[in-house]
Amino acid sequence: MGLLTILKKMKQKEKEIRLLMLGLDNAGKTTILKRFIGEDINKIEPTLGFNIQTLEHRGFKLNVWDIGDSADKWRLDDCKTELHQLLQEERLAGATLLVFANKQDLPGALSGGELRQELDLDSIRSHHWHIQWCSAVSGEKLLDGIDWIIADIASRIFTLE
Ligand code: GDP
Repeated sequence: MGLLTILKKMKQKEKEIRLLMLGLDNAGKTTILKRFIGEDINKIEPTLGFNIQTLEHRGFKLNVWDIGDSADKWRLDDCKTELHQLLQEERLAGATLLVFANKQDLPGALSGGELRQELDLDSIRSHHWHIQWCSAVSGEKLLDGIDWIIADIASRIFTLE
């Protein structure tokens, strides 16, 4: 195999991005995913185990892992602890973090700013992070979040273009 072929293969491989979706039960992870791939959001069954979807966006192949939550209802404080612990995980070194503040169409929803405080995002120095308000039901601002995460990953990793 020539060098060019190897580089081409690497390039193809590197164009794949793995996104792991984690969040509170009922936060809207499956709805975000369905909305993004254009599936009917009114037909959502509770996620059992996990659900992997592959989609193409801006020339990138995104493998999105939507992990079904267990029955325990995590509270926001637990969520903060889990998030900060997760970021210390060696295998997530170099990962980019996007937080969706979903359900902004609902009056009681925590705003992006409030969630940023609740999750103590400002203390994160080890990873690139961004918080995006959105509504999976209206679809508003979802793409802004996805575009940000792709741009961030692409600018750091895909240097062969
Ligand atoms: P998951 O457990 O995180 O996968 O949450 P689901 O995607 O199953 O959504 C849980 C519930 O929240 C469903 O009834 C959705 O229709 C609803 N939901 C999800 N996103 C939004 C949103 O942006 N706005 C509103 N009003 N409801 C939402």
